Amino acid sequence: MDYTRGQGWHDPRIVPYQPLALEPSAMIFHYGQSVFEGLKAYVSSDDEIILFRPKKNFERLNNSNSRLCIPDVDVDFALMALKTLISVDKEWIPRAEGTSLYIRPFIIATEPYLGVSPSDRYQFIIIMSPVGSYYKEGIHPVKIAVESAFTRAVNGGTGEAKTGGNYASSLKAQEESEKMGYSQVLWLDGVEKKYIEEVGSMNVFFKINGEIITPALNGSILSGITRDSIIELLKHWNLPVTERRISMEEVYEAFKSGQLEEAFGTGTAAVISPIGEFLWNGEEMIVQNGETGELSKKLYDTLTGIQTGKVEDELNWTTKVEEK
Ligand code: PMP
Repeated sequence: MDYTRGQGWHDPRIVPYQPLALEPSAMIFHYGQSVFEGLKAYVSSDDEIILFRPKKNFERLNNSNSRLCIPDVDVDFALMALKTLISVDKEWIPRAEGTSLYIRPFIIATEPYLGVSPSDRYQFIIIMSPVGSYYKEGIHPVKIAVESAFTRAVNGGTGEAKTGGNYASSLKAQEESEKMGYSQVLWLDGVEKKYIEEVGSMNVFFKINGEIITPALNGSILSGITRDSIIELLKHWNLPVTERRISMEEVYEAFKSGQLEEAFGTGTAAVISPIGEFLWNGEEMIVQNGETGELSKKLYDTLTGIQTGKVEDELNWTTKVEEK
């Protein structure tokens, strides 16, 4: 659908996937005024299409909108539109174990204007694609390089928004870590390069001497929906979980004294990614003998179970695309 200042959002429509017609002076090409979301739909064994906490995605989209001077969308309308879109063409939603339908809602500034100011016109689009299993044979640990040269986000910046520019600025660090054999980078705060923020496309958790710790949201970390779900689940299980500042030194000390029991990333794509190794200041820190920890496995099984309708949804997180 489209937005025109003075008129609001209008003309919602479903059209075949096709190229967009935008003027070369459309503001998105010049000043990066864009926001997006990522979520998945799964088909359960009794053939129901399940969305996992989709309202959270549209609420977060509005958070990003607010930071990028983009008008809000109506959360209920967006969810209804998404459900309609999925229902129209659902035969190609993959059904095999581990597969899902990846959903990418996004908004771009379309006004043809070269002055630096918020656009007066936008397009809100939802595209979808079947995706395969993130892990071919169960979950397995990833290797992460702690980033010391580049910064992803600073206080007051756009770090907590899901906007294209954050990802553009992270590509160089990602490319360099891949050359060294690491799959993603762990970002530290942009001021002191001391406190842990998040991984490339995941939030991060540590289990140190029984306490499960994740960096507190501070304005420069993306508020992950998987992160929030893991915190809720751990509380539901009466396990000790703390959101607080945590420095790389603290993790290193815990590693040295044998108290770093597990580390894992959380995100829509992989759900839970156990971290088997950190590279920090040239030193390889092997966590849990480079293997998947018990807690990571339990969280992965529970969350993917809820998402696919195999585990009871005690926390009321799932929404069916069509009520039977
Ligand atoms: N941080 C960043 C920078 C991300 O891109 C993502 C993926 N959306 C996450 C964290 C995890 O968020 P979520 O659990 O909502 O997928």
